[in-house]
Amino acid sequence: MDILFQNKKISDKLSFDNSLRNFRLKIIFAMTGGVLLFTVIMCGIIKFANGGAMLLLGIILALIVGTSLCLFVKHIFAEIFVVYNNHNKTKLDELRRIKHEHKSKTELLFVRDKQLSEMNARLMRSSQDLETGTKMLIKKDRELVLANQKLIHVDEIKSDFITTIAHQLRTPLSGIKWILSMLSKGEFGAVSDDGKKYLLKAYDSNNRMILLVNELLEIDRLENDKINYVFTETDLFRIIDTLIAEFSVEIKLRGIEIIVRGGENPFKVIADEQGIRSVAQNLLDNAIKYTVDAGTILITIQKDENFAKFSIKDSGIGIPSEAFEKIFTLFYRAPNATQAIADGSGAGLYLSKKIINKHGGKIWFESEEGKGSTFYFTIPLNLKTTNIRPMV
Ligand code: ADP
Repeated sequence: MDILFQNKKISDKLSFDNSLRNFRLKIIFAMTGGVLLFTVIMCGIIKFANGGAMLLLGIILALIVGTSLCLFVKHIFAEIFVVYNNHNKTKLDELRRIKHEHKSKTELLFVRDKQLSEMNARLMRSSQDLETGTKMLIKKDRELVLANQKLIHVDEIKSDFITTIAHQLRTPLSGIKWILSMLSKGEFGAVSDDGKKYLLKAYDSNNRMILLVNELLEIDRLENDKINYVFTETDLFRIIDTLIAEFSVEIKLRGIEIIVRGGENPFKVIADEQGIRSVAQNLLDNAIKYTVDAGTILITIQKDENFAKFSIKDSGIGIPSEAFEKIFTLFYRAPNATQAIADGSGAGLYLSKKIINKHGGKIWFESEEGKGSTFYFTIPLNLKTTNIRPMV
């Protein structure tokens, strides 16, 4: 800010041309920039100041005319100092604020750093725990492998034991079967009707023992992958005829009538004959066994598209609906079956399902308790041409 002083002697002032003075005053008054112009008379008293500057400073002209220029300047500098001071203070506050912010951020960073260190320590501990856990698992795994090897060994011993015992049992049981059959037919001399009845009962029980032994052997072979399926041309009708002949004593004893349908259009399937024979034998045995009172068994063998469909319908005790889901489970027997017939292992249907699955077929049943059951199975007519994969 520039301050110009117009300080003249009184003598000069007297000679001052009035019109020139007025002209100057007009110019001065019109000045508005940073220039302040004071006309001062003796002892530094302000006589005049330009209006534009006064507007800028926010000073009323009338108030300063006649006052001391020294005081006025002092006042202005004091004002400037206040402004400067305020400006400095704002800057200082700003700096303080930045410093404060910086401090808070540093503190935050410190806290984060601490948290990170803690997390790191925790991770280290977890990593150590994991390492220990892995070592323990490896140890347990080794123990399990050893235990498994032991179990396999025990299983092999058990399997060998079952096979040996079953074979040892089967031979004398088969001998007893034929002797009982010959006795009941009177081949060793006449037998009374009562004697015949008991002989047939003994024959029936003996036959069941043979079937049970066979089932035991089958389970052992199946569970231990000892079954070697041989798929050859198989005649289902011939299998059924043979089985009916084998069960003839029992059929007669129970007063059951057996009807076979479908023989008028015979056909053959590619199957494991021994396996399919086991399934048919089990289904026929069940139909006879669970037809406690004299009744009829209807067997149907027919083609159903690319499959051979076998069904066996009996008028026996039937299966309670609550047992439906469990009927193919190993060793399961429905309560009405255990009540009616003590003999039975609950293994026949389990084995049958495995064998049918192996052929890529299906096995199922329909039944009503007290009214009878129908068991069905299907197997592909020819596994090779039907493109069906046998299941394991
Ligand atoms: P089981 O030696 O007991 O006959 P299966 O595995 O052959 O064993 O049959 C399992 C169970 O299914 C039987 O115990 C019986 O409850 C039921 N079952 C099977 N076939 C028949 C049927 N024809 N009539 C009634 N119940 C049957």
